[in-house]
Amino acid sequence: MNLVLMGLPGAGKGTQAERIVEKYDIPHISTGDMFRAAMKEETELGLQAKSFIDKGELVPDEVTIGIVRERLGKNDCQNGFLLDGFPRTVAQADALEGILAELSKQIDYVVNIEVNKNILMERLTGRRICKDCGATYHLIFNPPGSQGECDKCGGELYQRADDNEETVANRLEVNLKQTEPLLNFYNDKGYLRNINGEQDIDKVFVDVNQLLGGLVHDHL
Ligand SMILES: [Zn+2]
Repeated sequence: MNLVLMGLPGAGKGTQAERIVEKYDIPHISTGDMFRAAMKEETELGLQAKSFIDKGELVPDEVTIGIVRERLGKNDCQNGFLLDGFPRTVAQADALEGILAELSKQIDYVVNIEVNKNILMERLTGRRICKDCGATYHLIFNPPGSQGECDKCGGELYQRADDNEETVANRLEVNLKQTEPLLNFYNDKGYLRNINGEQDIDKVFVDVNQLLGGLVHDHL
């Protein structure tokens, strides 16, 4: 089961990723983990990546793609993998097609957790933190008993600058722009499957399962 997982910030991609890798026993391959592992193992590509990261520069595609190639060639990917955070661009997606062809593999599905932008805004701007004890709340998912006040110590709740409307709206806009051509690319290839991420987390996983269960069935 060879999967690419996509979804905007706040879509609940992390939760679904955890559940998918646990249920289907495939490795969760996130870009961050992959870089950290390559740097720790001091592979040639890992060291190259480190030299760019240490300078505060973006790791060039060539190096990133090399690290992905090494990772997907490892034994634990024999029965599949869940790629998360890669590819980010059509150029990377194209390179991934090449890597998989070399390994005689192909993507089964690109699972895209879809959530409306307004709902993402609500989810991403709802965090509140206590000024005194640091307890965190969320206006929708974990609201404090009385508005603007910490349940534990009565301290004042505030919103971090990262969570304010303008910052979040910008972040979403950048992500949307980046994602759209990628979704089109995978739609054209026939890999794209959209999952409604506006539902309860458990129901989202039911839908993911229904999709992936069919895949397991096909392979038997
Ligand atoms: Zn408090």
